[in-house]
Amino acid sequence: MNQLQSDRRKFLKLMGVGVASLLAPSLWARALQPGNRKPNIVILFADDLGYGDLGVYGHPTIHTPNLDRMAAEGQKWTNFYVGASVCTPSRAALMTGRLPIRSGMCSDERRVLFPDSAEGIPSSEVTLAEALKSQGYSTACIGKWHLGVQPQYLPTNNGFDYYFGIPYSNDMNRVAKGGREIFFRPKVEYWNAPLMRNDQVVERPANQHTLTKRYTEEAIKFIHQHKDGPFFVYLAHNMPHVPLFASEKFQDTSLRGLFGDVVEEIDWGAGQIMATLRKAGLAENTLVVFTSDNGPWLPFMQMGGSAGLLRGGKGTTWEGGMREPAIFWWPGTIQSATVADLGTTMDIYTTACKLAGAQISTDRIIDGVDLRPALFGKGPSPRETVFYYRGRELYAARYKQFKAHFITQSAYQKENPKKQHDPPLLFDLGKDPGEQWDVAEEHPDVIAKIRDIVQEHKQKLVPGRDRLAKRLDHEF
Ligand code: MG
Repeated sequence: MNQLQSDRRKFLKLMGVGVASLLAPSLWARALQPGNRKPNIVILFADDLGYGDLGVYGHPTIHTPNLDRMAAEGQKWTNFYVGASVCTPSRAALMTGRLPIRSGMCSDERRVLFPDSAEGIPSSEVTLAEALKSQGYSTACIGKWHLGVQPQYLPTNNGFDYYFGIPYSNDMNRVAKGGREIFFRPKVEYWNAPLMRNDQVVERPANQHTLTKRYTEEAIKFIHQHKDGPFFVYLAHNMPHVPLFASEKFQDTSLRGLFGDVVEEIDWGAGQIMATLRKAGLAENTLVVFTSDNGPWLPFMQMGGSAGLLRGGKGTTWEGGMREPAIFWWPGTIQSATVADLGTTMDIYTTACKLAGAQISTDRIIDGVDLRPALFGKGPSPRETVFYYRGRELYAARYKQFKAHFITQSAYQKENPKKQHDPPLLFDLGKDPGEQWDVAEEHPDVIAKIRDIVQEHKQKLVPGRDRLAKRLDHEF
C-alpha cells in the first residue's frame, strides 16, 4: 500500500466510511490538496482610467480604499502596459495575448469598432475565455466588449457562457445634438446605448447611472452560481469613459467631482467582489487583476482622468496613453510587493492560461509572457521589451528602462501631425518616467540595440488584415 492509499484509508476511517470506493481517488486527492485546484480568474478592467487616478497610484482627491487594500495585500505594478492606447485594439490584446497588429484588430482608418462596423475579433483567434473554457472553466463577460457586435463576434460566440453589458463604448449611438458640451452635463437619453444579456438587447437606452452597480452585482451573482469553480469573470466596466454616470449613492460625494464619484464606485465594486470571494472561501484560490484599457481622455478636461506624472494620454504612444495601474491579488499565493518589472495585459493572457493548464497556441506568435515568477516572488518578470503601436504602425519601443520614439503624434488634433525622428527620441524611463529629457546623444549603443529588436520584430511580423475598417449601412 502506498502513502496515498494509506492516507486515504485513514481519512475514510475518520469520516466513518468503511467502503473505500465511496470516494473516488481523484476526489480524494482533490480533498487533500485544495491548493491544486485550478484557480479562478477575475479580471477587473476599467475604461480610460489613467495611471494617476487611484489613491494607491498617488491621486490626492480620489478615494479608493478597496483598490489600495488590494494593492497592499497583493502586488502593485508600476511599469505595466496595454496593447494599444485606444479601446478596441487594447481589448483584443488582452483577449488574445497578441499585439493587435497580428489579429488585425487595429486600423489606420478607424481606430476602434463602431456600431456600424461589419467585423470583429476573428474566429481564428483563441480568446482567453476559449482557452480557459477548454479547461473546464465557467466563463462570464460582464460590461464593455468592443470586439464586434455582429452575432459571430459577440462574447457568447467567443468563449463566454454568459454576457451582460453594453457591447461597445458608452458614448456611441449618440442621439443628442450639440458638441462636446453635452458630455459636461450628461443625461442617459443623450445616448441610445444597448444593454444586452447574452445576444439580446434587454434595455435601450441603458440606464448608465446604475451600470457600475449592476455590473458588480452580475459578477457577484455569477461567482455565487459557480463557486464550485473553476470560473473566469471578465468584468469590463464602461466607466470612467465619458459620458460619466454614477449611481445615486455615489453622486456628488468625491472631492474630484463626477469623475471621482465614478472611480470611487468602481472601487466600491472591487471591494464587494473581494469581500464575496473571502466570504465564499474562494479568496485563496482566485487570482484577481485590476487594470484599465488605456490612458485618460485628456480633451475632456475635468471629465477625463489623469496619467499622473506620465506624459500624454489616451490615443498616444506616450507613457500616459499606454502605462496603466495594475494590481494583482491572490491572498496566500501572491507575494505582497510593489513591482517595477515590465508587464502587459497580453501577459495576463499567458499567465492565466498557464495557471489553468491551458495549451497556448504554437502555430502563431503569442506576445504574452508568463508572469508567475514575479507574482509568486520566485524571480523577475521575463519581459524586457514593450512595443507601442498606433493603429498599424510601430511608433516606439521600450527595452528595459529605455524607450525610443521613432514617430510621435498628438492624440487627435490635426494641427499636430505625425513627426518622424531619426535618430529616435530616447528617454530613460527609470530616471525620467515623464519623458521630459531626450538622452539619445548619450546612448547610441542603446539606440542600436532597440533598432535590432525592432528589426527582428518586423521580420517575424505577419500583419493581420484590418478588421476595423469595413462598415455596414446601418448601426447596431
Ligand atoms: Mg478606453
